[in-house]
Amino acid sequence: MADSSRLYGAIDLGGTKLRSIVADGSGRVLGDDIRRSRTEEGLEAVLDRMAESLDASLAKAGVERRSLTGLGIASPGAVDVVRGIVPSAPQLPDWQDVPLARLLEERLGLPTRVENDANAAALGEHRFGAGRGSRHMLYITVSTGVGGGIIIDGELYSGKGGAAGEFGHVTIDVNGPPCGCGANGCLEALASGTAIAKRGEELADSGESEILARLRLEEGRVTAEMMERAAKMGDAASREAFREAGHYLGVALAGFVNVFDPEVIVVGGGVARAGDLLLDPARATMESRAMAQPLKGVRLALSELGDFGGALGMLARLRETED
Ligand SMILES: [Zn+2]
Repeated sequence: MADSSRLYGAIDLGGTKLRSIVADGSGRVLGDDIRRSRTEEGLEAVLDRMAESLDASLAKAGVERRSLTGLGIASPGAVDVVRGIVPSAPQLPDWQDVPLARLLEERLGLPTRVENDANAAALGEHRFGAGRGSRHMLYITVSTGVGGGIIIDGELYSGKGGAAGEFGHVTIDVNGPPCGCGANGCLEALASGTAIAKRGEELADSGESEILARLRLEEGRVTAEMMERAAKMGDAASREAFREAGHYLGVALAGFVNVFDPEVIVVGGGVARAGDLLLDPARATMESRAMAQPLKGVRLALSELGDFGGALGMLARLRETED
């Protein structure tokens, strides 16, 4: 059984920010820290910052590093979970087959596990968040990119090498725009924050959205978050861009419902904070396209853990690996 008196460290490494926590086995966070990851400064600098962030969390928790049972890292990329290697990821420029677990073990003296960040967040939402109590859950994160994780019978499904759950790279439009993965028309190329912002730039350029053109002048390039504000200020073009992205998301969700027959689909990531702007059209399309039997009773829920999901998922991973 999990021992709630044990203490764990976990770090969610992102392209722009890294978040660390120190928590007990029940998921209670005793100390946490967030700082910029500054990946452009290279691997060594990022490792330093991860160590500094963990130490800051330890200090807040009043815990010494040697009291930790283990360290879990949620990382971008198709992580090799067996060997703890990060092959490469667009968010981590210059990283190539980085043995992240070994490097951190050497540096911090703690047994370390690495998992894909979206898979870790799926586990976190299942154990501690919006998926609590379900047996079959899908997690989809919509932010700069689109990722996901699959929980089957209460366990994270990782595939043969740890890369399962790449919901962002299912084809939605065979003639659609190019995607970072090398294919085209992927969900990520149509419904990610990057794709929505690209549409926003077009709306500002063409004069279809005066509000976006003005905000761009004041704040710099268009972001999905800027478009969310514009939509709330009454900008019909921004609202329509979210509706369109939500529609594509719904097309994908309908397919996932048919394949997995889940109880709950948890939606997280920065763009999901746009809430109903994205989720209402996604839900409507999902309901109109999915098959009746698997659709019955499916819940579409917003993430409850926000940017703590990946770190708490790693805590669950460490806790349960010991059992
Ligand atoms: Zn793709």
